Amino acid sequence: MSNKGKKFRFSRDTFVELLLALKQAEYRFLSFEDVQGAGVQLGGKSCVLRHDVDVSMDFALDMAQLENELGVRATYFVMLRSPLYNLMSRHASERLAQLVSLGHHIGLHFDAGFVLDSEKDLERELVFELGVLSDLVGDSIRAFSFHQPSDKAIRMRVALPGVINTYNPDQLQEYRYISDSNRVWREVDPFDLIASGMKHLHILLHPVWWMCSSENVYDCWDQAINRNFESTQIQLLSTERAFGPARKLVLTRLS
Ligand SMILES: [Zn+2]
Repeated sequence: MSNKGKKFRFSRDTFVELLLALKQAEYRFLSFEDVQGAGVQLGGKSCVLRHDVDVSMDFALDMAQLENELGVRATYFVMLRSPLYNLMSRHASERLAQLVSLGHHIGLHFDAGFVLDSEKDLERELVFELGVLSDLVGDSIRAFSFHQPSDKAIRMRVALPGVINTYNPDQLQEYRYISDSNRVWREVDPFDLIASGMKHLHILLHPVWWMCSSENVYDCWDQAINRNFESTQIQLLSTERAFGPARKLVLTRLS
């Protein structure tokens, strides 16, 4: 697929095309741990496929299943402080276990703003959240990414022993980084990057932008919120006698 001269369309189909393009170009899919080890020295082309899960574990699982069907392993960075999902809820815990059972790696998506806006110690909080997530997953978590990192958070070049900071350029030197931030590619889209023959790629894709069925980003937020509510409601209906009948969530934009 060439996107030259036409609008890039974010969709499940384009996502599958992207995975196929990476496979066809013989990129090996590596974890962040692989990269910290011998990944780059092993020769050949490699791709660290990263997904920051900001809004919905359901969209994450949709993406994980598509990857699994194509034999692709990615790293899902999940949040303990997402305003939109509770990783310790029954529903999200199940989704987390499913991501692991599909062969994907797990990292911590950390809201640095929560810490930097307060008197808390960034490294201490990171160690705390990494520990909690390791316990939840049942395996040690060795990579973290900042959610909406400020310049300050990036400049700190936080380095914890044995843990990859995805925003620390010292740790991913050989890798060309691109992100689908709010459905905008800053310089180049991934198809062009693959066509250019770039050897090592660090590609950040947010599941919501690809698994959502609308071209409108506001609709994608609505879809994520609705899915979260539906999963919350399943538990409420089965456990809260006073909850009453099932509801449908209707979101109204005020401007
Ligand atoms: Zn994020």
